[in-house]
Amino acid sequence: MTLLKIKTAGDAVLKKKARPVAAIDDSIKKLASDMAETMQTAGGLGIAAPQVGVSLRVIVIDFGYLDFEKAESAGEKPAEPEFRPVTIINPEILDKSGVSSISEGCLSVPGYRAPVERASHIKVRFTGIDGKERIIEAEGLTAIAFQHEIDHIDGILFIDRISTLKRGIAVKKVKKFLEDIEEDGDKVENALYGKS
Ligand code: ZN
Repeated sequence: MTLLKIKTAGDAVLKKKARPVAAIDDSIKKLASDMAETMQTAGGLGIAAPQVGVSLRVIVIDFGYLDFEKAESAGEKPAEPEFRPVTIINPEILDKSGVSSISEGCLSVPGYRAPVERASHIKVRFTGIDGKERIIEAEGLTAIAFQHEIDHIDGILFIDRISTLKRGIAVKKVKKFLEDIEEDGDKVENALYGKS
């Protein structure tokens, strides 16, 4: 596996609508496993291919962390989250309802978080890495993660869904974060998505 470089806000690839995957071949499998490794190393909960410079409709979400969060918000005391990356290819939101707003972060917008208004419930169809089609209904953080990542493959960052004023602050924070990384590589560890 290979660690990939994460593109940050301002990079043109993050603004592009990504192409659908035509066939799940070895290159897609390698991309998905490299994305999973990159996401785990950076402390993310989800990652989309454009974030590593590949304009394809491929997403990886850590369902282990989502299960952990679900148990925690149900008042249970779960064990440490288990890393369980799930590859989502060519996802399509079939239905959405309700409104929810939670504080989001993004590996491509390091050092900044803000609440974003999104649907609270979604129904999504996608193809798994095994080539099988799946339809799932999701709520809570899972629904948010899907919407955040599907936005990425449509060329939208979460900071495009907040006020211009806040976006300006976010862009400054990313710039500062990247300058700090040059001085101190450990700070990249703070680039958490979904996990605060
Ligand atoms: Zn993101």
